[in-house]
Amino acid sequence: AKEAGRATCRFFTPELNRRASDRLWIENNLRRALGNDELELHFQPQFSLDGRRLIGAEALVRWRQPDGTLIMPGQFIPVAEDTGLILPLGDWVLGEACRRAAELLRHRDLLIAVNLSAVQVRRPGLAERVAGWLSSYGIPPAALELEVTESVLMDESDVVADTFSHLRGMGVSLAIDDFGTGYSSLAYLKRFRVDKLKIDRRFVSELRADNPDSGAIAKAVIGMARSLHMDTLAEGVETEEQYRCLVELGCDQCQGYLLGRPMPYDDFLAFLRGGAAA
Ligand code: C2E
Ligand code: CA
Ligand code: CA
Ligand code: CA
Repeated sequence: AKEAGRATCRFFTPELNRRASDRLWIENNLRRALGNDELELHFQPQFSLDGRRLIGAEALVRWRQPDGTLIMPGQFIPVAEDTGLILPLGDWVLGEACRRAAELLRHRDLLIAVNLSAVQVRRPGLAERVAGWLSSYGIPPAALELEVTESVLMDESDVVADTFSHLRGMGVSLAIDDFGTGYSSLAYLKRFRVDKLKIDRRFVSELRADNPDSGAIAKAVIGMARSLHMDTLAEGVETEEQYRCLVELGCDQCQGYLLGRPMPYDDFLAFLRGGAAA
């Protein structure tokens, strides 16, 4: 067992070193990228399940390298969170999302959803800064939705509770992202009164038309959301079969490759104007 352990270690060391230097590279270059206009937001359309009406879009950040290649958020958001860079990065995302929302709203009534890291929500003053962006771009608060993960709800401090009630008081809506993957507690959900639960893609990918049990988790989340007067949005819908199962289960909304991938702003605008089912 000792030998095997040592062998495993040797096997992984170069890999770990490589990943550590990737992180260092990301850390050093992300700082510059922020000041250098290398970040961009892509938009993934969201639809109502009954009628497939386009209702909004989720803004997802990408980092465009000078050579044109894209670095996906899964690679740099965790580094940004560890280094504190998430605060300026998150501010950039919120400001840019509001700037784009102002343009999009001239074409169509839409809900623009923005992802927030826990660190951003725990920093006092978020609601005030959001109010500032909304007013400088002239956006109705009801057009903005902020997505946070369940872990934020477990926060004991008053900062999160105050921020959430301030935001909701303004009319900004709140969604819980990846619902069901973290620590969920009904009590926390009640305490924070969020507007929407986003059902994680792993529960959507399990759905099978010929197996009623496959939808057990999605069904439970939808039932719970309904009793707490929250909406549900299913993430990662890739097939018509999944779509039909979700309609059957009474889910409200969805997003996923079946109906639209995340796309650069100009493409999303073309998609809107091209008459994506009104
Ligand atoms: P998320 O918020 O759960 O976003 C959904 C992810 O699923 C996105 O990956 C999206 O491209 C992908 N996706 C959408 N539809 C489908 C589908 O049908 N099938 C599959 N397989 N995947 C689908 P992306 O853009 O790589 O983002 C990854 C994560 O990075 C996000 O997960 C979110 O947690 C984080 N993220 C993205 N943008 C931001 C941001 O501006 N701020 C923060 N704090 N986090 C962000
Ligand atoms: Ca999200
Ligand atoms: Ca999600
Ligand atoms: Ca996810």
